[in-house]
Amino acid sequence: MDLQLLDQTLADRGEPAFRARQVWAWLARGARGYEDMTNLPVALREALAQEVPFSVLELREEAHSEDGTVKALFATADGRPLEAVLMRYRNPPGGGAGRRSICVSSQSGCPLTCRFCATGSMRFARNLSSSEILEQALHFRRTEAIDHCVFMGMGEPMLNLDAVLGACERLPDIGITHRRTTISTVGWIPGIERLTESTMPIRLALSLHAADEALRSQLMPVNDRYPLSEVIEACRAFYQRKRRRVFVEYVMLAGVNDRYEQALELARVLSAPAAQARSEAQAIFKVNLIPFNPTDSEFTGSSRESIAAFRAALESRGIPATVRLTRGRDIAAACGQLAATATAA
Ligand code: SAH
Repeated sequence: MDLQLLDQTLADRGEPAFRARQVWAWLARGARGYEDMTNLPVALREALAQEVPFSVLELREEAHSEDGTVKALFATADGRPLEAVLMRYRNPPGGGAGRRSICVSSQSGCPLTCRFCATGSMRFARNLSSSEILEQALHFRRTEAIDHCVFMGMGEPMLNLDAVLGACERLPDIGITHRRTTISTVGWIPGIERLTESTMPIRLALSLHAADEALRSQLMPVNDRYPLSEVIEACRAFYQRKRRRVFVEYVMLAGVNDRYEQALELARVLSAPAAQARSEAQAIFKVNLIPFNPTDSEFTGSSRESIAAFRAALESRGIPATVRLTRGRDIAAACGQLAATATAA
């Protein structure tokens, strides 16, 4: 729902301020329509249904993966495509529900041109509004409780940070605390600095992918503008201020960035400056190795064995590393595969 339009419409009708809060409380709990909002007068519900569309996104298609992952393809009111993904993790042994994590888009398309990413090859349309970002969460909230959010869908969140942070302010109402919210970036330094200043304890993830400046510039042209060395400094400053570990994403490309020496180079880049205590510095970064998901690009993914060896090399140098579980590859919902093909026509 367009929350600004809602405020304006209620104000124009001379409604008290708490009405907007009532509507939002219903939305945040997963209401499916104005008719659910039983503490609002019927006449007001009918008027709102006329004047404020219940959703700012139109669901075009929903794909369900064998592993429980769901990908939703939406269009904005002006016809721009975007996708969001719900990942369901196994229920814990003690009972209760497993983690329910949503991956949301901050832009329709992406203006950056990372060579291995499908989103980078579709046309960039525009930034999404806070309401359009929140709507993705509300969509999944209408079917089940959700508790984690990653800004790892389409787009570069740091290029649309006002809207992203605006949406983050309301995520706790939907069940997603700031501590369970992660913003992922290619390393857009002004954005990292703003997140460092924000009072919300949101997590930061950095898409790193190559520890060597020249190779990183080849894979991610944005590195020419914000070189890795400076990006790493900005991440260290984030940690100093927030005391929250930074996740490093590293997509494993066969023969490109997966050699043993490259793991050592990565460990070196992420290691402590000599002046800092070893134990503290090592806690700053945690590497998440991402198996490459096929896209229309010249790359192929590293083998399981190379990924395991790369991880072992990092850990031998004291850098914690995990391998990301691949989700939703059968429905092209995995990292880097979001390209909104169905609305291309
Ligand atoms: N623009 C932000 C948010 C997108 S996050 C960022 O880049 O961080 C999406 C993650 O998936 C990024 O780490 C991206 O580099 C990674 N990715 C892109 N293409 C991929 C692919 N084909 N296989 C696996 N991961 C990929």
